[in-house]
Amino acid sequence: MKALVYNGPCDVQVKDMPDAKIEKPTDVLVRITTTNICGSDLHMYEGRTNMETGRILGHENMGEVIEVGNAVERVKVGDVVCLPFNIGCGFCENCERGLSGACLTANPGTAGAAYGFAGMGPYSGGQAELLRVPFGDYNCLVLPEDAKEKENDYVMLSDIFPTGYHATELAGLKPGESVVIYGAGPVGLMATMSAFIKGASEVFVVDTHKDRLALAEKLGAVAIDDTEGAGVEKILNLTNGKGADCGCECVGYQCCDKHGKEVPNLTMNNLVQTVKATGGIGVVGVFLPQDPKGPDALEKEGKIAFDFGNFWFKGQKIGTGQANVKHYNRYLAKLIHKGKAAPSQIISHELALEDAPTGYRNFDKRAEGWTKVVLKP
Ligand code: NAD
Ligand code: ZN
Repeated sequence: MKALVYNGPCDVQVKDMPDAKIEKPTDVLVRITTTNICGSDLHMYEGRTNMETGRILGHENMGEVIEVGNAVERVKVGDVVCLPFNIGCGFCENCERGLSGACLTANPGTAGAAYGFAGMGPYSGGQAELLRVPFGDYNCLVLPEDAKEKENDYVMLSDIFPTGYHATELAGLKPGESVVIYGAGPVGLMATMSAFIKGASEVFVVDTHKDRLALAEKLGAVAIDDTEGAGVEKILNLTNGKGADCGCECVGYQCCDKHGKEVPNLTMNNLVQTVKATGGIGVVGVFLPQDPKGPDALEKEGKIAFDFGNFWFKGQKIGTGQANVKHYNRYLAKLIHKGKAAPSQIISHELALEDAPTGYRNFDKRAEGWTKVVLKP
């Protein structure tokens, strides 16, 4: 099968790889029809993880079931399925409580498993023609009859739509409240959409890319351009000095060695300043704990500057971590099915798998107009 393989920092290639196949009786084999490039792929692409060369990337996957293992009972050949990026077993104490992002079976001793991801188990990614789905009955979300027609909407259930929603949950957003969202990338835009779904009265979105801020505005948000670093002041002015009721971090670690520029992450401190006293902060942006190397090793290690004193003094709350996609995807799918949510509106490019390296290069640069890339193997 053709697949997109990590070849080293800022180097990915489409290669012929051995076909994915059923390995365990609980596996399902999926022919991938859509697979996205995610901001999380860039942590590996840019070379700040211990990703092994030769591995297939891709954790935002959907497709058609072409084979099921002997022990699979619910999922059938021909089903169109969307696959949560986190691989859960469904029966450990975390999965049982809906915390599938911290499954204790699929990647024992760590914080969960995912397809094509450094440090998250041996599982191959779905930026390929075929994908093996472990614990298929648990991990496949079988989609309704409009699955193919709304494929570019449903594929967002694999990660960024539930992740954006999770950010607002971690922040404790309630109907009528205001929220400040750092990052107008795909995840920040999905948090924006989710905030309106939850009944937010006002959504402020901070970024420096005008094209992305324009998308946030289209979703109904107040765009805050932080190019000159005045974002904090602007938000405080717009909220009578109080700050928003809660906030979301949808940026994460951004520096790229290959581009030779250091980008200190100030979003956590900005959140402390622009969220009201006692407000919640939901952090879904990724700060990696592993394999620190090089001059910016502290940030690579996830040890960012954080004004804990001011955070404590304001009595704020914080929630962090991976989205437990299984906890949300079934319900968010109903919003898509009934025409109440259309996450595909943030897609900027639909490419063939062969063109994935171009997609990576431009998305990584945050080149103008490259907001979200979907690949069609
Ligand atoms: P992205 O990295 O392109 O989006 C980040 C956006 O933040 C960009 O538009 C960038 O211009 C903006 N930005 C950079 N510095 C900023 C600053 N100081 N203030 C405000 N905005 C700033 O791609 P994405 O796909 O949206 O991913 C965002 C983050 O979410 C990544 O860290 C990704 O790994 C993470 N993520 C987490 C989960 C999860 O389960 N927790 C799932 C998916 C993605
Ligand atoms: Zn993702």
